[in-house]
Amino acid sequence: MLRIAIQAKGRLNEDTMALLADAGISVAASKRKLVARAGGFPLEVLYLRDDDIPQAVQMGVADIGIVGLNEVAEKEMDVTTVMPLGFGACRISLAIPRDVNYTGLEWFAGRRIATSYPRILKRFFEKNHIQADIHEIAGSVEIAPAVGMADAIFDIVSSGGTLVQNGLVEVEKVFDSEAALIANPGLDAEKMAEVEKLKFRFTSINNSRGMKYVLMNLPKDRLDEAVALIPGMRSPTVLSLADPGWCSLHVVIREDELWEKIEQLKALGAEGILVLALENMIR
Ligand code: ATP
Ligand code: MG
Repeated sequence: MLRIAIQAKGRLNEDTMALLADAGISVAASKRKLVARAGGFPLEVLYLRDDDIPQAVQMGVADIGIVGLNEVAEKEMDVTTVMPLGFGACRISLAIPRDVNYTGLEWFAGRRIATSYPRILKRFFEKNHIQADIHEIAGSVEIAPAVGMADAIFDIVSSGGTLVQNGLVEVEKVFDSEAALIANPGLDAEKMAEVEKLKFRFTSINNSRGMKYVLMNLPKDRLDEAVALIPGMRSPTVLSLADPGWCSLHVVIREDELWEKIEQLKALGAEGILVLALENMIR
């Protein structure tokens, strides 16, 4: 049986639980327990702090894990990234006080920089031949410049609101992150087969994200025009209707184009348009 490490509580927990649920895997909500047996898949769930997940997976305490790529990169553990998961997006950036006249990366030479990601920053500075003084601190990195602990910070940014509140501006984006499924590199064939099954379920869920299933009735003589509106559709489903002049067309449309496409289809004479949620798209 596979054992998966996930974040016990925090920013990744909710999306991780939702992904498992969408994949037909039920997990007891009780986060008091460290380990729980899942239903719907032979899986044991280990609840950890996100910082500890890369190491747990490298050591084989867990076979796989769901964690931010930022933690994977920082912990420098020997784990395999199986697939990105499309949530928990953020970036790690260098930020400096707003009133500083920023002249480029050389500005950081000889400066003190507070961060919870010293290894990622060290690698970045080495690559760019900058010698700076990296101070590792565990939390509240963003207040370090204001209290005189540092000249700049290197920290996670998602909307940028926290930086603004603390009088900082982002000047260099260093690392792009999102949550990913990671695995111990030494899994046996049996466990790898289980990981492949999970990957297949997660991929189907991700493919269907932001997609809608749309059904409509259409005059048959407008079918070619309607099909041309929906790019990437290899072969649309067209069903006959009792009225020989009409057909029923079924298509998958991206959510962000949905209303635009529907207006265009209506202009071609589409009627009785039904928009349905798409749960899985298996390619
Ligand atoms: P833990 O108690 O598990 O150590 P934490 O406080 O270190 O939790 P969270 O704040 O819950 O971590 O963030 C977990 C992950 O969520 C981050 O490592 C990162 O990958 C991702 N993330 C996405 N957006 C943000 C954000 N705005 N701030 C912090 N992390 C974010
Ligand atoms: Mg953490």
